[in-house]
Amino acid sequence: MSNLKFFYTLFINSRLIVVLLSTIFIGNCNAFNQEENSCRHVKLQVLGSGGPEIDDGLASSSYLIWVDNKASILIDAGGGSSLNFEKSGGNFNDLKAILLTHLHVDHSVELPVYIKAGYFSNRETFLSVLGPNEGGDFPSTTAFVKALFDDRNKNKLTSVYPYLSDNLYQQSSTDFLITAESYPYNNKREDSKVWISNLTDDLNVEAIQVNHGKIPAIAWRVNYKKCSISFSGDMNGTSGNLERLAKNSDWLVAHNAVPENAGRIAKFLHMPPSKIGEIANNAKVKNLVLSHFMNRTNSKKSQTVQLIKEKYKGNVYLSKDLQIFDL
Ligand SMILES: [Zn+2]
Repeated sequence: MSNLKFFYTLFINSRLIVVLLSTIFIGNCNAFNQEENSCRHVKLQVLGSGGPEIDDGLASSSYLIWVDNKASILIDAGGGSSLNFEKSGGNFNDLKAILLTHLHVDHSVELPVYIKAGYFSNRETFLSVLGPNEGGDFPSTTAFVKALFDDRNKNKLTSVYPYLSDNLYQQSSTDFLITAESYPYNNKREDSKVWISNLTDDLNVEAIQVNHGKIPAIAWRVNYKKCSISFSGDMNGTSGNLERLAKNSDWLVAHNAVPENAGRIAKFLHMPPSKIGEIANNAKVKNLVLSHFMNRTNSKKSQTVQLIKEKYKGNVYLSKDLQIFDL
């Protein structure tokens, strides 16, 4: 090869390499921007940062996910949730789904409040209610909704609010329908099956079973494009499933219902701070929000954060009712 031809070939190849590297670099930047941008569309608002107590000044468990400034998903509906939804300025007609972590009162009792409110908001589109499967003394979410509203039992009085049955069955008086679905797998401790539901092209939710004593319970992950927020619900952290579900989440909301020195029964139901830190670290979540405070943890918040930070190096936030986290 002549010198001229050699340098010409080198010149062409160099240009090709530069073009190739530029394409890869620009492609990566676009992917990064897309990831960044999708979280800019999403906000997390805490509607209830408390547990079941009524002397703590806090609403019980409830969270609202805003997408493009619309109240899109409600997670849990504990006592006080609906008043704070009202204060949040959310429009009930924008809600695509209500996700329940489990059916304890402090997570589910205000579901009928939202359903009845829908009559006055002139909602017309159906509303998904998704929650755990049956187990122990608890019905499935589907059976729970029927027990609230169904008037087609032989004895009408077997449901609590049969006058709202037109939200379950299409009738002339129906304004909008509820579609209730339960986690489709059983609640065996070793199971780690993930239930995925698509709400829109860009918005989907995932659930996995977690151990909350013997109560059927699930953790939720909400994904808007590349942006994700995970919710522990109440759980003791022993299954390893929350780490799996929340892997690389932008945000994790974890329930701080018991202190580190809690007794055996309390720890059978709930995770202590060190476990929260371990899970956040293993899942590599970027931000951690603590919630579901109780009198036994409210007074120990600084100790809780310290214990968590021994295991987890990301940002830790202590939530308050109505607080908004800009993602
Ligand atoms: Zn609870």
